[in-house]
Amino acid sequence: MLRFVSAGRSDVGLVRGNNEDSGFAGPYLSLVADGVGGAAAGEVASATAAYVASALSMAEPGADVLDLLARAVRLTHEQLRVGTAQDPRRTGMGTTFTALLTDGSRVALGHVGDSRCYLFRDGELTQLTRDHTFVQTLVDSGVLTLEEARHHPRRNVVMQALDAETPARPDLQLLDLRPGDRLMLCSDGLTDLVEDEQVALGLEHADPEEAAGALVDAALAAGGSDNVTCLVCDVVDTPRVVPDGRQLGAFGDPWLVVDPAAVHAAPAGGVTAS
Ligand code: CA
Repeated sequence: MLRFVSAGRSDVGLVRGNNEDSGFAGPYLSLVADGVGGAAAGEVASATAAYVASALSMAEPGADVLDLLARAVRLTHEQLRVGTAQDPRRTGMGTTFTALLTDGSRVALGHVGDSRCYLFRDGELTQLTRDHTFVQTLVDSGVLTLEEARHHPRRNVVMQALDAETPARPDLQLLDLRPGDRLMLCSDGLTDLVEDEQVALGLEHADPEEAAGALVDAALAAGGSDNVTCLVCDVVDTPRVVPDGRQLGAFGDPWLVVDPAAVHAAPAGGVTAS
């Protein structure tokens, strides 16, 4: 059965006062969520997204992987609505969401926002997600080159995020992976500062923990102007293991999650919002 050997690191960076990124590095689910919003709301948004996805995946190990990621996105939106109603200072909070989920045979990738997932195979780096950003639409229509987009003053304008206002339409895809493949998930605190060649170099470290650490260190060496989160997930074929994982960034504080009780297994085996 396929699973991930996952490792990751999340760092506040050298400029920001708090870490609004969250991550989860597990054998069947790995994700990054990059929160935005004042009054500690960015942390609430990203930690809630990470909690909802990880709790759902553990409650329903046999669920359809694409369906589960879609439901995690919907439930996060509902939870962010609840969280905003509880505290109006959180109005406008949101988060990116880029998640890998496997049931042992299929691997799904769900994506909203400008965090990224890359495949590193045979020394070659391929971006699997498409940024939901203003500059990406300009690249798609041929107005900007990728290099111009990298340095564009509006490069951080996100067209879609998980928030309380609008239900997100995640990009969902099944990945054709094989043992030996390596996946990398990251927030834009890495990719804004570190060029692809250097990312590929960091991913040459055999140990996923060392690779993730090297990439976060590279972002810090380049100025660390944003929170930076990086997860490295190696695809392996082994018997099933007990699902557990590491919580990264803001997700390390359970008090940030809007309502953990909102994620629960329904009597029929499904999971619903309360
Ligand atoms: Ca960021």
